[in-house]
Amino acid sequence: MTTELAPAPAPAPAPAARPRIFSGIQPSGIVHLGNDLGAIRNYVRLQYEYEAIYCIVDYHALTSSHDPELLRTRTREMAASLLALGLDPERCTLFVQSHRPEHTELAWLLCTVTPVSWLERTPTYKEKKQNQPDDINHGLLTYPVLQAADIVIYKASLVPVGKDQAAHLELSREIVRAFNSRYGETFPEPQAVFTEAPIVLGTDGVKKMSKSVGNTIDIFAEPDTIRKQVMSMVTDTKRILRTDPGRPEVCNVCQLHRSFGDDYETIWEGERTARTGCVDTKRLLADRIIEHYREPRERYAELMAQPELVDEILAAGAERLRPKAQATMAEVRERMGLR
Ligand code: ADP
Repeated sequence: MTTELAPAPAPAPAPAARPRIFSGIQPSGIVHLGNDLGAIRNYVRLQYEYEAIYCIVDYHALTSSHDPELLRTRTREMAASLLALGLDPERCTLFVQSHRPEHTELAWLLCTVTPVSWLERTPTYKEKKQNQPDDINHGLLTYPVLQAADIVIYKASLVPVGKDQAAHLELSREIVRAFNSRYGETFPEPQAVFTEAPIVLGTDGVKKMSKSVGNTIDIFAEPDTIRKQVMSMVTDTKRILRTDPGRPEVCNVCQLHRSFGDDYETIWEGERTARTGCVDTKRLLADRIIEHYREPRERYAELMAQPELVDEILAAGAERLRPKAQATMAEVRERMGLR
């Protein structure tokens, strides 16, 4: 008589690895509303879906900023801002680019497969040459190669971008193809993860909100300052009298309401029918922004009061990435004959 053994239970499937995404952000200091709605909200969301690596790109900043103390301060402010707005170091990896110097070694190696003509035709290079004509340094030209290195050193396959930025990634993909075809399949070609992010106009209602323009709403400022900034916003310029109907589709205040509550259509209707005036709509927006950022504002202040905690989080992020960066560099050196 044979006894049939019950088959051993199959081992529980390993949790599916989440695809790895990489994104870099300039250390531009304390963040404003445009940074949050246009980039950071997506960062926070993506950390739950992907293995997310977020890098504060201080090497890149050196191509246009040369004040060491300011760079150090802004790097910490950016880190504290990201943490205060919801990046969770247990869920994602947040680090500073220069804490993993392998990025620059890889960038140099990638330079040797990148034709200068590709870099010279990059729109951002042309734009930056115009913006800083007295400082057209070599770093400006090779910026996209360092960007490619940032992504591929961790073999990240995905990069979050807005629909209008897909072209930026194309050069990284070309560099990867050039490397792989010369030295063998080494890096995945990074793909775009398209994210829905608005371009936020500044308080002038015309230009993109930006520190360099001075038209920002500073989400971590005191409530009074936020209120003043919101109350100074330019609305629908054709609405002269309180009784004139408003046009929410061209009014920046109405557009921003979309990001602060589900009832924006009701608010828009009030504007269209002149039931509400611009001042009412601004007051409500100011209240909502102040309330929405109340906790992040407190967290930001707490983090800035404990710089050593922020530095520890950043150091731990860089340390976590050490094995990945070193493994890639060992492979690349081997492939390129650097032994
Ligand atoms: P600033 O122009 O104020 O110096 P940065 O260039 O440092 O801002 O931007 C950091 C991130 O925030 C980038 O991902 C950028 O696309 C996003 N961002 C900045 N300003 C805006 C804006 N007005 N609307 C949408 N996204 C923005």
